[in-house]
Amino acid sequence: MEQTYFRKGFGLKKELRPLIDAEYQSALVERIRSRGYTDVFGDVSVRLAQEFGFCYGVDRAVDYAYETVHKFPDRQIYLVGEIIHNPHVNNRMIEMGISFIYPTSDGTFDFSVLSEDDVVILPAFGVTLHDFEELRGIGCILVDTTCGSVLHVWKRVEKYARDGFTAVIHGKYSHEESRATASQVNKHEGGKYIIVRDMAEGQLLFDYIADRPGRLTREAFMELFNAKSSPDFDPDRDLAHIGVANQTTMLAKESLAIGWKVHEAMVERFGEEHASTHFRSFGTICSATQERQDAVAEMMQDPPDVMLVIGGYNSSNTNHLAHLCQQHTTTFHIEDAACIDVEKATVRHKVELDPSAPELLAADWLPDGAFSLGITAGASTPNNKIGEALLRVLEIRGIPVE
Ligand code: SF4
Repeated sequence: MEQTYFRKGFGLKKELRPLIDAEYQSALVERIRSRGYTDVFGDVSVRLAQEFGFCYGVDRAVDYAYETVHKFPDRQIYLVGEIIHNPHVNNRMIEMGISFIYPTSDGTFDFSVLSEDDVVILPAFGVTLHDFEELRGIGCILVDTTCGSVLHVWKRVEKYARDGFTAVIHGKYSHEESRATASQVNKHEGGKYIIVRDMAEGQLLFDYIADRPGRLTREAFMELFNAKSSPDFDPDRDLAHIGVANQTTMLAKESLAIGWKVHEAMVERFGEEHASTHFRSFGTICSATQERQDAVAEMMQDPPDVMLVIGGYNSSNTNHLAHLCQQHTTTFHIEDAACIDVEKATVRHKVELDPSAPELLAADWLPDGAFSLGITAGASTPNNKIGEALLRVLEIRGIPVE
């Protein structure tokens, strides 16, 4: 019987590595890295964060996509959503002949174009249980690039559901990963989830659990979390046993704080001695996200004059890196090197954390005299785009780079 499910690649990695490196590596970035993550170009001192750019999960997903194209040259290849949240990498996928199946406005996918002859790549953040089962039902070849760290969260959430605990997920309900993670509760009958975006939204949940004065009514709570919880979610019934998890790319500090606040609310409701039988928690921020946030936190102890954060506007981990830097120095979150216009000496950038916030245009954004420039990039940003962004900054300053 033909194998139709792959999640370990096709053994072509070694063969394709030179091609992938040529497309995504940067000699300039490697040079700075080899000099201790700092370098001086004219009157610009450049500092790279100690951890930045492609994470192990993205590396693997990109490798598998290239391997898939080489393995199935005669088949139509599709991608469910974006392989990662980076426009440059996604455009390369299209150039290689891969077709994207984009989600509809309610976040679901229409797989009616697919047949069993097709090959479908699942992205690094995974797909929902429902989508996975539908794709298996079609019988197409599936190349599953879901990151191991995401699978780790899925196992945790599934266990919560199995044990009768509602999964409280710190994440963005519109994000593919959170939707996929939440769907894991459906592996067990009666499994429940609720997704909270941040501390402000979490506060409504904590107050409800602890039945604090002024908390939302049951109806108001259900209306507010309607799209962010299981279809038949009832806060009076489903908040008695809670397990906390999170989207892997959230702000680690906030995730931790939300876990504590839920615990605090459970103690208030059930008493210290019983809280442990009603509450579970497990940090599921991935190590790559953590390391990138830690590296930026370290750099911000002595912040550079200007910070450049490079990565997709819809990339959760990039948005959080930008948010961290904004609190310490002048920060520009750009989606791509092309946001820097050398001729006009301007930059297009996003200020707010919200992925859909508008892009702003800034002129006179670089200091007049000598300055230090810090650079980091989200887990889905390839090094060539980091190098290109730096080259554009130096070009604006009229600094040649060999
Ligand atoms: S950010 Fe973390 S969970 Fe997401 S793909 Fe990278 S390593 Fe995996």
